[in-house]
Amino acid sequence: MLLDGKVILVTGSSRGIGRAVAIRAASAGAKVLVNYLSSEDAAGEVVATIRAGGGEAFPLRADVSDAGQVESMVEEIVRRYGTVDILVNNAGVTRDALLVRMKEADWDKVVGSNLKSVYNCTKAVCRLMMKQRWGRIINISSTVGLHGNAGQANYAASKAGIIGFTKSIAKELAPRGITVNAVAPGFIETDMTAVLGEDVKASYLSRIPLGRFGTPDDVAHVVVFLASDGASYITGQTVAIDGGLAS
Ligand code: NAP
Repeated sequence: MLLDGKVILVTGSSRGIGRAVAIRAASAGAKVLVNYLSSEDAAGEVVATIRAGGGEAFPLRADVSDAGQVESMVEEIVRRYGTVDILVNNAGVTRDALLVRMKEADWDKVVGSNLKSVYNCTKAVCRLMMKQRWGRIINISSTVGLHGNAGQANYAASKAGIIGFTKSIAKELAPRGITVNAVAPGFIETDMTAVLGEDVKASYLSRIPLGRFGTPDDVAHVVVFLASDGASYITGQTVAIDGGLAS
């Protein structure tokens, strides 16, 4: 199995893309830490699904925008499993508004949840990975971070920031056998996109050459590959998973 016996922490895996990554990683043989913030029941369902399939999983509540909570979460993982082999920085939120109407709280919430969280979690696990001279870090960015989007300056900045962070940390950690990559999903059907209006969805769909929205599993497949030994010569990259979505 691709991830046999590896310990993987997936932030924000109670729902959506993180949930799909957690379940697919478990079926690839990994022991999965299911991090969540407020969806306790949903996180419990992900853990139950994995265990029902014969896999190993454990739920962990922590606000990944808070460095102290992340440190406590990683200490708990080390007590239970000894290390973290694979980190998937997936947790994210949107607070959309045109810049003229964007509140400082909307900026801080999005940058804290989407970008500072990546710093917090990477910092908390990288020493463990450096010590064992093996690790995989996969960051969930977005096509919005590559191309921008009116009404999402906070989100685009956080997702572009993830790409710069990925490229820099890939260079820092490569000598220790750790790869760091990002994926940039386009329009994926989750709770995050379910709130968008039908006109917005139709506009996106008309610009997707493959003619359909993405599924969480479309992203999970690529994340599991990047976490596997087959991807050991790939680092510092951003892989778009967007059906060919035009900018
Ligand atoms: P989603 O369905 O809204 O799920 C978001 C997840 O993040 C939930 O599990 C949520 O946990 C968790 N989360 C949010 N803030 C958190 C925090 N501070 N600490 C811990 N967990 C937190 O979103 P999604 O569509 O799956 O998106 C997942 C990632 O993919 C995000 O980074 C998003 O920006 C990115 N992305 C999504 C799309 C898309 O089209 N859907 C496209 C490109 C990129 P709780 O429910 O427990 O609060």
